[in-house]
Amino acid sequence: MITGAIAVMTSGGDSPGMNAAARAVVRTALYEGVKVFGIYNGYKGMLEDDIHELTSRSVSDLIQRGGTFLGTARCMEFKTVEGRRKGLDNLEKHGIEGLVIIGGDGSLTGGSMLSKEGGIPIVGLPGTIDNDVWGTDYTIGCDTAANTAVDAINKLRDTASAHRRIMIVEVMGHTSGWLAMTSGIASGAEYIIVPEVKYNIDEICEDIVESYAHGRRYTIIVVAEGACSGVGLKNVVQEKTKIDTRVSILGHIQRGGSPTLEDRIKASMLGERAALALISGVNDVVFGFDEGKVVSINLFDSVNNKKPLDPELVRLASVLV
Ligand code: ADP
Repeated sequence: MITGAIAVMTSGGDSPGMNAAARAVVRTALYEGVKVFGIYNGYKGMLEDDIHELTSRSVSDLIQRGGTFLGTARCMEFKTVEGRRKGLDNLEKHGIEGLVIIGGDGSLTGGSMLSKEGGIPIVGLPGTIDNDVWGTDYTIGCDTAANTAVDAINKLRDTASAHRRIMIVEVMGHTSGWLAMTSGIASGAEYIIVPEVKYNIDEICEDIVESYAHGRRYTIIVVAEGACSGVGLKNVVQEKTKIDTRVSILGHIQRGGSPTLEDRIKASMLGERAALALISGVNDVVFGFDEGKVVSINLFDSVNNKKPLDPELVRLASVLV
C-alpha cells in the first residue's frame, strides 16, 4: 500500500494517447490522496533527476494532444546496472514508492530490471503504435496510428488510380506487421507485406501484370518497414512489371496527431487501473486489454515473450486481400 508518492513516465517511441494515460494516472492518484511526480524524458530524465511534482492542472488541456507532455527519450546509460542505481537513488530522494511506466517492450524491460534490482513496485502500460506487447491485444496509440495510415492510403489510392500506377506504401513496424496488416485490410490494399509472413515478389509482380492487362487502374502494396524497404521494393516491382511504380513512406506522421476516441478511452481506463493497482500494493504487472476488458499481465511474462501477429488477421487478409 502506497500512501506517500508515486511517479509516472513515458519512454521509448511516443504514441498518441500517452498523454491521456499519464493524465489518468495523475488524476487518479491525487483523487486517492497520493502525491504524483512526473519523470521527464524517460529514463534519461530519471538519471538526470528531471523529476517534478504534478498537480491536476499539470495535466489540463492534454487528453486531445498527441505526443507526450512528459517527453520521451532513449537512454543507453540506463542499460547498465550503475545507470539504474543512479535512477533508483533519484526516485528515493523524492520519496517515490512506486512507478507507472508507459512505453513499449524496451521500456517495460527496463522497468522489470528496476523492480528486480531495486525492489521498487512497477506497473507498466503498453504504449506503442506497433501493438506488439505480449499479453494484450491493444497498445496505447495503435488505433490512431492505424487510422492515420488508412487515411493516407485512401489518398494515395486516388492519385494511383488517376495514373494507373502501382503505389507502395511503407508503414512503421520493424518486427511487427500489425500496423501494415490492419491498415492494409481496412484500406482494401491489394497486397500486404509483413515481417511475419513469407512472400514471393515474383508471384506478386506476375499477378499485377495480369490484372493490369485485364483493366486494373491501380495497385496498392502496403509494406511494413521491417519486411522490406519501400524504396527497394519499388525498384524491384518497377523493373519486373514495367508499370509506373511510386513509393510513399509514411514515416513519423504515423506517431503524431490527436488520439482517436478509442485511444483516449482505453488509455484513460488503463491509467486509472495502473494508479489504483500501484497504490493498493500491486506490482510487476502490465495492464492491457483482452476482448475489450482490462486485464493484468505479469510484467516478466510480458517482456520475456514475443507477441505473434494475430493469426485471425493473417487469415482474413488471405481471403480478402
Ligand atoms: P520502446 O519502449 O518503445 O520499445 P526502446 O526499446 O528504445 O523503446 O526502449 C526505451 C528505453 O528503455 C531504452 O532507451 C533504454 O533506456 C530502456 N531499455 C530498453 N531495453 C532495455 C533493456 N534490455 N535493459 C534495460 N533498459 C532497457
